[in-house]
Amino acid sequence: MNIHEYQAKAIFSRFGVPVPDSHLIRTGDDVEPFCETLEPHAWVAKAQVHAGGRGKAGGVVRADDKQDLVAAVSGMLGTRLVTPQTGEDGLPVQAVLLEKTVEIHRELYLALLVDRESGRVAIIASTEGGMDIEQVAQQAPDRILTQLVHPAAGLQPGQARTLAYALGLPKDQVRQLQAILFALFELFASSDCSLVEINPLILDGEGRLVALDAKINIDDNALYRQVEIAKLRDPAQGNRDEEQACTLGLNYIRLGGSIGCIVNGAGLAMATMDLIKHHGGEPANFLDVGGAITQEKVAEAFKLVVRDAGVKAVLVNIFGGIVRCDLLASGILDALQSVSLQVPVVVLLQGTRANEGRQLLENRHTLLHQADTLTEAAQRAIRLARA
Ligand code: ADP
Ligand code: MG
Repeated sequence: MNIHEYQAKAIFSRFGVPVPDSHLIRTGDDVEPFCETLEPHAWVAKAQVHAGGRGKAGGVVRADDKQDLVAAVSGMLGTRLVTPQTGEDGLPVQAVLLEKTVEIHRELYLALLVDRESGRVAIIASTEGGMDIEQVAQQAPDRILTQLVHPAAGLQPGQARTLAYALGLPKDQVRQLQAILFALFELFASSDCSLVEINPLILDGEGRLVALDAKINIDDNALYRQVEIAKLRDPAQGNRDEEQACTLGLNYIRLGGSIGCIVNGAGLAMATMDLIKHHGGEPANFLDVGGAITQEKVAEAFKLVVRDAGVKAVLVNIFGGIVRCDLLASGILDALQSVSLQVPVVVLLQGTRANEGRQLLENRHTLLHQADTLTEAAQRAIRLARA
């Protein structure tokens, strides 16, 4: 789960990571009263969306006086911001963070993430802050510094010092960076993060290190025990279909190919997608209806998948164990009553009450096809998607 910059900065503050003074604006009416309280100072208006790249896309605007600030905020609130990271529809701006302008002497990059290869938390740092870090990694890999944290020993002071020296920081800032790294590591571990990123971490005019941007991703599987963080979810920033699936308790991930997949169980979903790819197709999504599914949820799941404009054919692959295939078939029939089906659907039912399920679906719709094996089902869905 992703959270907003202002939320991430509030968490940073709690853990002792320095951030600029700021104020959050949610409606245009709040700007003028807030401006009355301002001391003369340049401010930066920052659109709060779940995406980076705002700086180059008009989502970070400097305002030198109150008039500029009011104009900057009203130009953002209620619009959709398109950045290189959002897709062409952009994301809605429902809040703007007003932040004191900080004098920037150096821009550094700092991130903590789970390194799957080593199974450890990796600290990544670079002198090339403010840039797209993937681009730096490609063009100048030697500018990317990494320290892996031992899970039992934790972050060692020597590791923090090594990074600070490699970043070319003078003695006073070495201590600051050390404190920031320990705070971030504590935050990362105690909040079940999968990513904490500061880009840029800047050195200001008074020699202080300050987090100018903040990104925190929380492992979805840990949200049950991160109750406070889970409340920060902003559904307006998510993909509408993924959010709806989430409320229904379904696992739905959009992938961008042409074959929609409705499957029960993550393992079967992987096998189904592998087979689609093996036969030359591309999955459009992955929808796992899970084990304890109701007829209503099957109907909702089905509607969700067929309304994705990228879907040219649907493959339903159910291995009935706890799930009964006839219940699944009834769910599909329910959905067909309220949507007019535009794409072919290939259904493979096996296991508990598969015959009953098949009978229910027989001759019910010209676009509904049934298959006997997964290979046949996958090949057919691919063929139909191309037709
Ligand atoms: P994004 O990563 O979405 O582009 P950032 O928060 O990193 O957004 O801001 C982009 C750039 O805007 C920063 O690299 C920095 O140069 C400038 N900036 C952001 N916040 C401030 C601030 N409070 N004071 C001065 N400059 C800022
Ligand atoms: Mg940034």
